[in-house]
Amino acid sequence: MRKSSCLEIDLNLLEENFFKLKKITPNNFILPMVKANAYGNGIKEITFTLVVKCGVRKIGVATLGEAIEVLSFDFIPKEDFEIIVFSDSHLDDSSSHHYYQDSRLVPVIHRISDLEIFFSSHHFIHTSLNLKLNTGMNRLGVNFEELEPFLERIKNRGIDHLMTHFANSYSILKPNDRTHKQYDYFRDYHRQLKKIGVEIKNTSVSNSGAIEQNFGLDENFVRPGLMLYGPYSSSASNWNGSQISKLKTKILKTFMAKKGTPLGYGVNVLGEDSFVIVLALGYGDGILTFMSGVEIQIHGHKGRIFGRINMDMLYVIFDPDVEGEFKENQIVEIWDHDNKKIVNISEQMRTHPYQVMTAISQRVPKIYLSK
Ligand SMILES: *Cc1c(COP(=O)(O)O)cnc(C)c1O
Repeated sequence: MRKSSCLEIDLNLLEENFFKLKKITPNNFILPMVKANAYGNGIKEITFTLVVKCGVRKIGVATLGEAIEVLSFDFIPKEDFEIIVFSDSHLDDSSSHHYYQDSRLVPVIHRISDLEIFFSSHHFIHTSLNLKLNTGMNRLGVNFEELEPFLERIKNRGIDHLMTHFANSYSILKPNDRTHKQYDYFRDYHRQLKKIGVEIKNTSVSNSGAIEQNFGLDENFVRPGLMLYGPYSSSASNWNGSQISKLKTKILKTFMAKKGTPLGYGVNVLGEDSFVIVLALGYGDGILTFMSGVEIQIHGHKGRIFGRINMDMLYVIFDPDVEGEFKENQIVEIWDHDNKKIVNISEQMRTHPYQVMTAISQRVPKIYLSK
């Protein structure tokens, strides 16, 4: 653990984001995704806020292990609550099946071998059927044609939640693009299933990128992850959420250095006279090495992350006239509640805020603010 750096997470902002999201999805139920430690923000505190403060009744994780952890939180309601395991559900492993006897744990059936187990193992008799269809992302999801031998059993059981996942919803949506095609397939499959008499209670297609563009909101559920934590996916988005975290760190050292001075490991030579600060964050804290070269605004001053990112430290360089604006031991912020900052940093790194947020490591303590 460190004391000089921290991820400060404002749970009030998460609540605000949730209700902002509710405004743009007034007719939908929200099934928030809290996989990967709630996108790096801490699964317990985030789930507490979503369940207790925001009143959600279904929550999504990626793995059975995450679901078991969520189920262990004492604030999880005893009934009318579902933890949905989206990908790594362990249905192939019969020694895991007993977990699903708690009907609050629900696997998403996304391949035929799991559908066979779902119908043949007695552990799933009371489990609701959540079925994911492949509509063109070609990752998980059952192909519609593969359902044929199961249709009678599906009809008898009914589908609690029919879903698909978009491959491209983060880009600006245009008529006839891949996302529209996926959605057309989904609606067609939905119609066909209903026509043969399958009862379907709930449906969902939209993750953050789609929701931000008001796409797929005719389905009764939406499945946001990223946007709840702050960042927007698409430049076409009108999402005005706040980044719920601030990444704070301490200045370990400041100095002036002449053009031509090598800084740190390797031979990274200053191209200009610079004011240099050394920060208490490195790849050991989950700062990805390709953050090197990124321009950042620190307290209104434009700087650049310079040279190699070390395990425990990194350099930021500024114009010489910034000297005096920063002092040793001062606390500074790499990103703050303005969601444009983390998106801008991620874009310069040629990645996305998902990776930047989930990379932050255990060594960085999480500090929670809530009213
Ligand atoms: C992670 C995930 C989401 C949420 O995606 P965001 O882009 O973070 O909103 C929705 N649906 C599925 C199936 C997912 O795996």
